Amino acid sequence: MTSNPNPLSPVPFVDLGAQHAELASEITAAISAVVERGDFILGNAVAAFEEEFAAYCETNAAVGVDSGLSALELLLRAYGIGPGDEVITQANSFIATALAISSVGATPVLVDCDPDTYLIDVSKIEQAITPRTRAIIPVHLYGQIAEMEPIMAIADQHHLIVIEDACQAHGARYRGRRAGSFGHGAAFSFYPAKNLGALGDGGMAVTNDPKIADYIRLLRNYGSVQKYHHEVCGFNRRLDTLQAAVLRIKLRHLDQWNAARREHAQRYTELLRDTPVHCPLILADSEPVYHLYVIRTTERARLQQALQANNIATGIHYPVPIHQQAAYRSLGLAEGAFPVTEQHAGEILSLPMYAELTAESIERVVATIQTALHSNRADIGQPAAVVA
Ligand SMILES: *Cc1c(COP(=O)(O)O)cnc(C)c1O
Repeated sequence: MTSNPNPLSPVPFVDLGAQHAELASEITAAISAVVERGDFILGNAVAAFEEEFAAYCETNAAVGVDSGLSALELLLRAYGIGPGDEVITQANSFIATALAISSVGATPVLVDCDPDTYLIDVSKIEQAITPRTRAIIPVHLYGQIAEMEPIMAIADQHHLIVIEDACQAHGARYRGRRAGSFGHGAAFSFYPAKNLGALGDGGMAVTNDPKIADYIRLLRNYGSVQKYHHEVCGFNRRLDTLQAAVLRIKLRHLDQWNAARREHAQRYTELLRDTPVHCPLILADSEPVYHLYVIRTTERARLQQALQANNIATGIHYPVPIHQQAAYRSLGLAEGAFPVTEQHAGEILSLPMYAELTAESIERVVATIQTALHSNRADIGQPAAVVA
């Protein structure tokens, strides 16, 4: 299928080096400019990036923080969510979604994911609501926006806050609207491997409510607007000026990188069409940004091994559902609590995905999968000599 001269050349899972090489001189100049100005803490670049990122997300305000986890946590705090409150989210997210809820003293109430989209199963939300429920955190998992319209309708009806976990969905659209513009607030992460990644940790809280934005500005900076005057007991959760300067440069390329990811995903999906692997359903009028390209197969171990043998890296997002983590044993949720999430955890496999991925690499990944699935059938079928 592919004429790759060296079938064992590595196909990494993500390739941060390729992205950096493209922008290296620009990034170096931006870092030098910050060093010369010396405004390392809440400097010019932070305010400029906040304005640019809010505009990009089509929201009124953005507040730079030190991680996606902090963005989620400070949004919850700003909406007054704390001990005794319950926050609904899905069992198949990255642990940070639940940790943000725990960190404010609230209790994560998990629901299962939809078997087709892998997003939060909207039909399971209402039965999880109790008199203590204060908020819902839908996760735009793998880069596809959750079904925000029914989620907002449920929230309206029960007077709940909705915070989008958009840490995997920078730039995604659903029915024309950007990730981060649906809920009362949204959290983004700039962890290096995200669609928009810093050279270290970083995050952003976005909201249309200027009071919430101002409160998060307080919380991230020791509860202070005026130096040495502290309105509330805050934290140190600021976005570094150096990271903001780098992110400003990368933001200008994000749409183009996301378009490349979508093209790669389309190619994967086309080439995998005739294989028995399952790909998440994409909702009508949705424009995902494919933070991850995930397939599902009962032959995962075999596929992962075959890909590894061909020098192709893969990942699993995530192998252990939140309710089965040791950290959440206290939730008292036994195996079987979320059957779809649990089944997926045993079957999902993330294939290489980044803007600079080549068509040749995609073809090699798929060819390896096809060969592995084929050899599996031969193994469990008749000995080769008997096959007609
Ligand atoms: C990455 C991620 C986070 C946390 O972001 P950090 O910047 O690593 O704290 C939260 N939720 C999801 C779904 C993520 O993928």
